[in-house]
Amino acid sequence: MGMTAAAPRPGILAVTNPASGAVLAELPVATPAEVDATIARAQAAQPAWAATPRHQRHRVMHAFADLMEEHADELSRLLAEESGKPLAQSESEIAATTRLYRCYSERMLARSEAAEYLDSQPGYERDLLFTRHEPLGVIGAILPFNFPSELLSHKAGPAIAMGNAVVLKPSREDPLTVLREGELWLEAGLPEGIFQPVVGGAAVGTQLVEDPRIAALSFTGSTEVGIELAGILTKRLAPAFLELGGNDAMIVLDDADVSLVVSEAVTGRLACNGQCCVSNKRIIVEARLYEAVLQGIADRFGKLVMGDPLDEATELGPLINQSAAEGVEEEVRRTVAEGAKLVTGGERQGCYFRPTVLSGVTREMAIATDMEVFGPVLPIIPVSSTEEAISLANASRYGLSGSVFSSDIGRALDVALRLQTGQVVVNGTGQGRADVAAFGGYKYSGVGREGLCCLDEFVQNKNIVLRRVLPAN
Ligand code: NAD
Repeated sequence: MGMTAAAPRPGILAVTNPASGAVLAELPVATPAEVDATIARAQAAQPAWAATPRHQRHRVMHAFADLMEEHADELSRLLAEESGKPLAQSESEIAATTRLYRCYSERMLARSEAAEYLDSQPGYERDLLFTRHEPLGVIGAILPFNFPSELLSHKAGPAIAMGNAVVLKPSREDPLTVLREGELWLEAGLPEGIFQPVVGGAAVGTQLVEDPRIAALSFTGSTEVGIELAGILTKRLAPAFLELGGNDAMIVLDDADVSLVVSEAVTGRLACNGQCCVSNKRIIVEARLYEAVLQGIADRFGKLVMGDPLDEATELGPLINQSAAEGVEEEVRRTVAEGAKLVTGGERQGCYFRPTVLSGVTREMAIATDMEVFGPVLPIIPVSSTEEAISLANASRYGLSGSVFSSDIGRALDVALRLQTGQVVVNGTGQGRADVAAFGGYKYSGVGREGLCCLDEFVQNKNIVLRRVLPAN
């Protein structure tokens, strides 16, 4: 700890703290031979894990969750250091991860495997059918940088519960928390080979996806990379579950509670320092409330405390690295060049980007529809009718989440039902996902759903029919 950044060395990944620039660890990048050997180990270990009775798999998963709880402070701190996420948010991510592994494990145990009588069909009156849910085998999991631990639990949780092995590739930016979790899995009694990280970037990820021993991919990240990887899997008919980008709209109708809108918009946009997939990234507001919402958000943004993620007073930490912050700076500059006005923020200092509010945004500007800004930036866009609000929200190529504010539940539901998104929250930010939700997006925000439904997805269904086993009437 505490080394300063040195020149990049081939084959070595330096994980840095974006707040201080300190190098937290130097990890060897997995070589092609190591990736190959990792997949081979997973394939060799998986059948025995699949044959392990469910109650024993459940016990191991709970032992792991217990260890996560015991090590919560250490893991939260590590996550805050490597990702720049404020400590309180890192703590809540580790708590969510722990809760989710328990949840997946308990649901696995409680799954019904009931048999069916086939007497709805003539000639099958004495027959029974039961369905065996066989694991797929080795599942590849590729993670983004923003919620490494929690998003992994949505992949490894159902995969391991159902008897699969997982080879996971964390982001280059913040692999340390999930590497530590790998040690805890072994301590919890998970057999070697069932949960294995491989360290590296795009080349390691591509090798994983191209390997025919990988039976399915669960990918969370950008739309461009997701599409590229899905193309590789399609060629061998292997499923790809894709959780991709978003540009979620928050629609504010003219009878909304402005103070609620402001507080939800600020919390939703600034979670994870503005780098959430689901987050209100566009505020579309009916004209009557435009000034009040704009002023309210700009005031709050202007007063936010930026600083060290480990400092309890910090509300906003750095972006994941300097080039990400420069990218956000460029997107703001471009939007201003297109005619938008900077109300507050807009400045970058190293990896930090001041919370930014843009006014004068029109439908023609990229930020109003298809440009996902991964940083603390909010365009506030006035509209003259509810129809116009819905039309602008749906004009995006994305459809991940969204929200609508109104004091009239009927009006709010009308909007909610017409938004082309996988989630709509009424009178709250669309940022966040319920543990029980089948989560995912429309359009370019992804394919498939993630959540408890994956217990039914990370398996092959085998129907076994027992003929003439019931007594004749
Ligand atoms: P990214 O697409 O750059 O990287 C995601 C992962 O893919 C990383 O592990 C990266 O190393 C790997 N990767 C990159 N190029 C690859 C290639 N050619 N082959 C194989 N692997 C490759 O995304 P990011 O910057 O880490 O995350 C931000 C993006 O993720 C945003 O667009 C965000 O909206 C999206 N996201 C979506 C969800 C969701 O649930 N829908 C959740 C979190 C993040």
